[in-house]
This record gives sequence, C-alpha cells and structure tokens, in this order.
Amino acid sequence: MKINGGCTHIQALTTLRVAERRECAECVPIGARWVHLRTCQECGVTLCCDSSEHRHASKHAHTTGHPVVSSAERGERWVFCYPDGTFGRY
Ligand SMILES: [Zn+2]
Ligand SMILES: [Zn+2]
Ligand SMILES: [Zn+2]
Repeated sequence: MKINGGCTHIQALTTLRVAERRECAECVPIGARWVHLRTCQECGVTLCCDSSEHRHASKHAHTTGHPVVSSAERGERWVFCYPDGTFGRY
C-alpha cells in the first residue's frame, strides 16, 4: 500500500489493519463514551481518540510501545504516529 508522508514507522506499514468493531474496547466495559475511534496498526485493537475523556488509544501507545494508529472513522484515510507526532495519508 502507498502512504503519503509520515515517519519511518508509518512508511514501514505494509497492510492496513481496520476496525473489527466500531467501539472503544476499553470504554465499553466501564460504560464510558468516546468521540472518535483509532485502530492500532500493531495489534489491531480499536480505542478512543485524544478528544475522548479517557484517551485510550494514546495510553495504549505509551504503555505498549505500539506507535501507529489509523482513523477508524468512516471516510477518513489517515494514520498517525504517537512518538513522532506525524500523519500519513493513503
Ligand atoms: Zn513514527
Ligand atoms: Zn476509550
Ligand atoms: Zn496495539
């Protein structure tokens, strides 16, 4: 796949992981709500964005070291690397 822009983490992606469920895997068990969803490109888990109260995707990136997420929102075609703060578009 071709991704425009981004860091070495983003350019290293060969296939794009897509959300299996359109819900935050960590908000659902605690009854919390989210704003937007992101899918980890390392393990495939879908979690909530930094505009959400719990910022689970960001916490996941920090605790696991999985750097890159994709937007799981319909019509959005971009990936983001947390440690580098860079976007790539596809
Ligand atoms: Zn990176
Ligand atoms: Zn969440
Ligand atoms: Zn992950």
